[in-house]
Amino acid sequence: MMSELYGIYGASGFGREVLPVLREQLSQQGIPEDRLVFVDDSPPAPIVNGQRVITYTEYLAESASSRHITLAIANSEIRALLAAKCVIDGVQFIHVRANNSVIMDDVIVGEGAVLTPFVTLTSNIRIGCQFHANIYSYVAHDCVIGDFVTFAPAVKCNGNVVIENHVYIGTGAIIRHGRSGKPLRIGKGAVIAAGAVVTKNVPEGVTVFGNPATILSKESLRRSKL
Ligand code: UDP
Repeated sequence: MMSELYGIYGASGFGREVLPVLREQLSQQGIPEDRLVFVDDSPPAPIVNGQRVITYTEYLAESASSRHITLAIANSEIRALLAAKCVIDGVQFIHVRANNSVIMDDVIVGEGAVLTPFVTLTSNIRIGCQFHANIYSYVAHDCVIGDFVTFAPAVKCNGNVVIENHVYIGTGAIIRHGRSGKPLRIGKGAVIAAGAVVTKNVPEGVTVFGNPATILSKESLRRSKL
């Protein structure tokens, strides 16, 4: 009998972290472990942490009643390309959610999100598609987060913050709260370096670092090399 096939796209670092979370989630739904595979276009090995690794072409060729996938790759541009491909092929996105993650009231999360252990989304939050929240990250009240946003571990995103599409926030960064009706805004494609403390709006496409966070320029790079 054909049954559903589940995939973790990306058999590298993040994929291996997502694996135990999804394994647990599927076992709670009574789905056998052998229906879960890694999907990787350059398989690092035939088996990784006990799970088969197959290419996307092989994944599509395996017999299955339906296909479900999580895009476990931190690079958001790659996630966007893979998501478009999966939509064309009728592959559905899994909402991966660790048992000990917390979601409070009136939170809407788009398809394909990955909420890893110890993530908290508090109240009245909107999040777009393919969001990654790595371990110990939180999003506080009244935040609005776009599509393909990536949080590294322990990101502290305080209340009334708007984060546009394809923003990457590095490990341990702190985003100061905005105000109701005047949110702190992080522009599309911006990168917040690990450990940065963001106290004001960040323009589109720039990288900021430090405390308080400032824009990384050629001059700041030159000084950091002295
Ligand atoms: N990958 C893939 N197809 C793509 C791009 C990447 O299968 O179009 C795989 C790649 O072979 C690698 C993984 O995704 O195994 C990405 O690993 P990386 O360490 O760059 O990302 P991370 O796990 O840190 O998010």
